[in-house]
Amino acid sequence: MNINYSTAAKHLGSSAVREILKLTQGKDIISLAGGLPGEDLFPLEAVREAYTRVLSSDNTVLQYGLTEGYDPLRDKIAGRLSAQGIPVSSSEIVLTTGSQQAIDLLCKIILDPGDAVLVEAPTYLAALQVLSSYRADVHTVTSDEDGMLPDDLEDKLRRYRPKLLYAVPTFSNPTGATWSEERRIKTVELCRRYGVLILEDNPYGEITFDESEGAYPLSLAAIDRSYNGGYCVVYTGTFSKIVAPALRTGWIVGDPELIRTLAKAKQAADLHSSTIDQRALDELLQGFDIGNHIRLISREYHTRMKLLSTELSSRGWEGAHFREPQGGMFLWLTLSQDINAAELLPLAVDKGVAFVPGEVFYPAQPMRNTMRLNFTHTPPQLVPLAVQRLEEALIMYQQRLLI
Ligand code: PMP
Repeated sequence: MNINYSTAAKHLGSSAVREILKLTQGKDIISLAGGLPGEDLFPLEAVREAYTRVLSSDNTVLQYGLTEGYDPLRDKIAGRLSAQGIPVSSSEIVLTTGSQQAIDLLCKIILDPGDAVLVEAPTYLAALQVLSSYRADVHTVTSDEDGMLPDDLEDKLRRYRPKLLYAVPTFSNPTGATWSEERRIKTVELCRRYGVLILEDNPYGEITFDESEGAYPLSLAAIDRSYNGGYCVVYTGTFSKIVAPALRTGWIVGDPELIRTLAKAKQAADLHSSTIDQRALDELLQGFDIGNHIRLISREYHTRMKLLSTELSSRGWEGAHFREPQGGMFLWLTLSQDINAAELLPLAVDKGVAFVPGEVFYPAQPMRNTMRLNFTHTPPQLVPLAVQRLEEALIMYQQRLLI
């Protein structure tokens, strides 16, 4: 049958990252492509115990639950956020099926086709997919390593009258970059002045390589809450990187009225997220020192990032450069101008290493000589070999250019 898809469905792109992951499956390939946490660091034993305890508690663990999420877990998230400088009450929180659903639901309740949205370039690929599915008109704000440039932001706020600004200001996916405090303050101030909603997507913020106490960069949501008169920042976070992605539990925080509307959209989407996963997480947070666990994974990811950084630096590839991220899971590598990373990828896969070509993270005008490297998932002992294979692919690529 010839299926007559909706216009929205025709705008659903497939994720390049998932396509690359498929390419690498079942082969002897070291993948620096996926955005995967290190599974050797999952708190498997504690999670197993938490599930065992909730399954031995009472029958309601298998029952339908509230759309907004399991109340005790919402309370705990409110407590954690307040400790991070975002004073919220649990009524301002909806639990979601990962923060991916939070992005989707927010766009669903805010955007009509053709509405303008501002993003950084490069930015999170699956957010671009969501924006495309709602047929948003996506515009890029010029950024440097400290965040969006205020002049360009103001120019685009005036010119496009956007409904939404989407950003990952802390240890970003894909670049690992972190906005300066000054730029954060300026961005919130400008968006408040122009009445534009900000979606602050912060899955990586707690994975900081700075071990000093309270080293979190000030979130846009925290800045926003220091003003009087309503919120302009909607904030989303997740347990995916600090516990495990399989629990599919994220949260979205914002203006109570907006949160109520979002809960209606969630009801239509899936009634509520998994009761048992939320109950297990709530149980986990009672006995398990999550702060200590986050410190442990952050320390290990820091070591893994340093290893990759040292290997890359020691190669001295002509024209290649990167900045070490201060947290998160990704390192952004820029190669010499004449290299197209998407064309390099098949050669790299042949040599036994995979990465994500940077071009997929740009809504338009991609820098094709870039790539995203994940440093959290590959066993550290394989990293030198991965970089060696990448070098072999680069040599092959250069030889082709010469032919
Ligand atoms: N936002 C960003 C920037 C991400 O990198 C990810 C995970 N790749 C998500 C949101 C979604 O995470 P989850 O749905 O697992 O919470």
